[in-house]
Amino acid sequence: MSVASVKGWCPGAIRPMQSGDGLVVRVRPFGGRLDAEQAAGLARLAERHGNGLIDVTSRANLQIRGVSESSHRRLLDGLAQLALLDPDADTESRRNILVTPFWRGGDETQALVAELEEALADSALALPTKFGFAIDDGTSRVLAGNSADVRIERDTAGGLMVRADGARFGRSVARGEAVTTALAVARWFIASGVRDGRGRMATHLAAGAKLPEALRGEAEPAPIMAAVHPGLYPQGAMVGIAFGQMPHTTLDQLSGCGHALRMTPWRMVLSEGERTMPSASGLITEAYDPALRVIACSGAPRCREAHADTRALAAALAPDIGAAAQLHVSGCAKGCAHSGAAAITLVATATGFDLVRGGSTHDEPILRGLDRDDMISNPSILMRGH
Ligand code: SF4
Repeated sequence: MSVASVKGWCPGAIRPMQSGDGLVVRVRPFGGRLDAEQAAGLARLAERHGNGLIDVTSRANLQIRGVSESSHRRLLDGLAQLALLDPDADTESRRNILVTPFWRGGDETQALVAELEEALADSALALPTKFGFAIDDGTSRVLAGNSADVRIERDTAGGLMVRADGARFGRSVARGEAVTTALAVARWFIASGVRDGRGRMATHLAAGAKLPEALRGEAEPAPIMAAVHPGLYPQGAMVGIAFGQMPHTTLDQLSGCGHALRMTPWRMVLSEGERTMPSASGLITEAYDPALRVIACSGAPRCREAHADTRALAAALAPDIGAAAQLHVSGCAKGCAHSGAAAITLVATATGFDLVRGGSTHDEPILRGLDRDDMISNPSILMRGH
């Protein structure tokens, strides 16, 4: 299987992405959920065919890292046996769906996801890279801050609605029309908003595009739920994954509890039905652990491109970052772990760290050549430029 290097498509399992530590094979759990057997199987596959490290991504997917070209085929066979593989790469790339982890047995969420997955598989829609859907149909919304272009939500009266991302209001729909309306919004976007295989809904609307009358509405979306933290919820135990990456042994331990895992885009997973907080290496179980506020890419020695050990530095600085701030430490300017802005971004270079405030790894630094040990002994350096 050749690794595509073209931009403009979303990497997956069938078309993986090349990284400094080998192929990154992205697995998209159906329904946003892994049963315990799938989770254990995935841990085994990561150990056998990868370097044992598994990412949890901001699209609520898992990534097996360090896979070689020669082991990729065997890994795909293993994923197929676990019912975690789409029939082809195009079907896989269309199935870009975030699901609220706070659904309850008997509500409509899982049926809506299954229906949307099937409709996308049957559709042959040429969706642009990064284009995605969110099923956020609780009485309060939890995915409003996460990337999606078409959203199935509830209105303030509890009815279902479909909203194009970026639009303030959405169209009220009956249960039976939710998925077909979501696909109609996607089709309109393909016809009017895609350029060179790219484009996002909110940008399109902000540029002045008008949804057709039949897809517009006046339904006001339900309120947004306060930020989610690790802890016990009626649906189970929400645990954080330090730096969004865990060794295969941690996933194996989580699956050993016998509970299914619900994926989230927040570097957390919900262990379904669990009534006590699980403990395993690299799990964050305290609601306000400073480690939740730091992002770091693989860094040295895991990535050949890295100029520094990003995670050790991020962990050392985490307690000194303000409660509302976010620190991103990147081993080079690529910014693999976080493409967006952060309150503080440190980019490792051959001559020290560049400091960007309120921007991303691609923005102009306000300080250059910072020394790692100086920052650890005097974290107030990071606040300079305020
Ligand atoms: S950002 Fe980090 S993981 Fe990505 S290439 Fe650079 S050093 Fe490697």
